[in-house]
Amino acid sequence: MAEFDCEETKALVHEYLHNELETEDQRDITTHLALCDSCEEEYDLEVNLNKALTRSCDEEPPHQLAQKVLNYIRQSQSN
Ligand SMILES: [Zn+2]
Repeated sequence: MAEFDCEETKALVHEYLHNELETEDQRDITTHLALCDSCEEEYDLEVNLNKALTRSCDEEPPHQLAQKVLNYIRQSQSN
């Protein structure tokens, strides 16, 4: 049985949001997000980022770009 720690959950939150994980992994991350405020925050961030990106262009942006923007948001939040 797979269990995710915070690091793994945060690394997979993008895939989770886009339903790119195995059903079992999706379920485990759902459980983790429900129990973990820190990861839930990360998930909310990803959701908001996704909304912002889909607003600005109809096609899903390349993964790398999304990651870049996400890193930028993280940096600006930690300062
Ligand atoms: Zn967590």
